[in-house]
Amino acid sequence: YPPELIRNFSIIAHVDHGKSTLADRLLELTATIKKGHGQPQYLDKLQVERERGITVKAQTATMFYKHRTNGDDHSEGKDSPSFLLNLIDTPGHVDFSYEVSRSLAACQGVLLVVDAAQGVQAQTVANFYLAFEANLTIVPVINKIDQPTADPDRVKAQLKSMFDLDPSDALLTSAKTGKGLEQVLPAVIERIPPPPGKSDSSLRMLLLDSYYDEYKGVICHVAVVDGILRKGDKISSAATGQSYEALDIGIMHPELTPTGILLTGQVGYVVSGMRSTKEARVGDTIYHTRNTVEPLPGFKPAKHMVFSGLYPADGSDFEALNHAIERLTCNDASVSITKETSTALGLGFRCGFLGLLHMDVFHQRLEQEYGAHVISTVPTVPYIFEYSDGSKLEVQNPATLPSNPKQRVTACWEPTVLATIIIPSEYVGPVITLCSERRGQQLEYSFIDSQRAFMKYRMPLREIVVDFYNELKSITSGYASFDYEDADYQQSDLVKLDILLNGQPVDAMSTIVHNMKAYRVGRELVEKLKKVIDRQMFEITIQAAIGSKIVARETISAMRKNVLAKCYGGDVTRKRKLLEKQKEGKKRMKRIGSVDIPQEAFHELLKVS
Ligand code: GDP
Ligand code: MG
Repeated sequence: YPPELIRNFSIIAHVDHGKSTLADRLLELTATIKKGHGQPQYLDKLQVERERGITVKAQTATMFYKHRTNGDDHSEGKDSPSFLLNLIDTPGHVDFSYEVSRSLAACQGVLLVVDAAQGVQAQTVANFYLAFEANLTIVPVINKIDQPTADPDRVKAQLKSMFDLDPSDALLTSAKTGKGLEQVLPAVIERIPPPPGKSDSSLRMLLLDSYYDEYKGVICHVAVVDGILRKGDKISSAATGQSYEALDIGIMHPELTPTGILLTGQVGYVVSGMRSTKEARVGDTIYHTRNTVEPLPGFKPAKHMVFSGLYPADGSDFEALNHAIERLTCNDASVSITKETSTALGLGFRCGFLGLLHMDVFHQRLEQEYGAHVISTVPTVPYIFEYSDGSKLEVQNPATLPSNPKQRVTACWEPTVLATIIIPSEYVGPVITLCSERRGQQLEYSFIDSQRAFMKYRMPLREIVVDFYNELKSITSGYASFDYEDADYQQSDLVKLDILLNGQPVDAMSTIVHNMKAYRVGRELVEKLKKVIDRQMFEITIQAAIGSKIVARETISAMRKNVLAKCYGGDVTRKRKLLEKQKEGKKRMKRIGSVDIPQEAFHELLKVS
């Protein structure tokens, strides 16, 4: 396959607009997978992806497709040429836009999928700009035209007014009924340019992703930008200078399929005896050891937006959690991990995530794939504090601040984001109110068409992390769509809010909040905690404090009755169920001082803004 017969493209879209289903259909159409293989969203391989119905990891598949181009000799006996197509299915959720931008680096074009009924949504906008800024060819696909409320003409008008895309370029499809799908691959071949690399240049491969396989070791996904890779070649990493041998190379078709050679412009996998994914740095350039090359531009490093502590729940130990985390981070290099100690919770880890969903998914994978039981502390965003000696520090854990920062801190900054919100126009009022409660500053307010408003806000990241999306959804009956990108830091009046149980501060429950909101947040935190902490054999006082000032207080009175007393004489199964439930709950308990705290306590804290 010379580069002229190769096309590399991504499918990008807002969540649920049909990327993974469209990918299924294209894999079937090219007989890469069997029709009716019984597993929709074939490329969503992780259990979390299947349960949540979302794509978390970008996945590549190679397809072969015969296509007759216009310039072809149509005379008899001449076969139309077979093209090699690399399709990358990407996640739609904002937390994973890092996966999207990495995928785009291996592509020359995208299918921009838009739901024919919902029209352009916030992540459509974000993904469009990722592709546009990367100078990729954009093929608009209006999908789900089978729906009764589909309105493709309206979507065409939106594509024109928002992105200046020619409405006549849009393909109309239904990934469900199959209508219009036959136009997709011809459009990919005719409109998207072949990869620009040179076969006769020295080998340069871009390392796109890596994961750990029990049998093969580290598997790297690569895009061959220039040159040719053959099995057995000696290769080196530009980032680490280490050398390896290409032991097994091939394509994802859709499973790993050895080919012995990877040509210019191809996307494939390489197994080279790397022992840990730490050696496989995403964005690295791999080249032939015998040559010297100019490294490829690579990627901006992933930016961690939220941090939280991870601790073993009672009954599971630190070493087991350590092992599970090490294994999982082999497959998700976008999490940052450092060890930390908490007075309340003992030995644990401070983890940096790309967003809350990313954090949730990481927890779920730890439990499902590695059987770890964890307690996670309230997420925080990375603040910057300047101390009186002039030093500036990024604070990823509120517990590391002195209780009364006012004494030593001269200034603080908090991270902000640029938020894009798209809503039906009748919800404009409530959304503006919500955004200003969340300390947002409106930058733009316009209309996509007669029914939809488009707003841009600069907002403190913290206000978005704390349950913003749920609230936005609820005040707009689910119609709002939302996306954000990180922006600069802004100076802000921040204080540390401590929680005390029976007079003892619990370091793992400290948060940093805006001074203006501190009293209300303190009050609400204490009330929430009262609801989720079970009564115990003694009275518990819960307090919120700023420095030495108590701003809220609640008491949980001591338990009188045995938990089984209500079942006395009752049937045995019910009693057993109750005991089991209690045991189940215990897994996620942590004793702090003498008080048993359930995981929900930390979850509830997260919902207070
Ligand atoms: P993704 O988040 O963009 O990957 O979206 P999925 O491919 O997971 O699809 C989201 C939902 O839309 C699934 O329930 C699909 O079955 C459904 N869906 C996808 N394409 C179509 C279509 O053309 N018509 C209809 N009616 N539903 C579709
Ligand atoms: Mg998907």
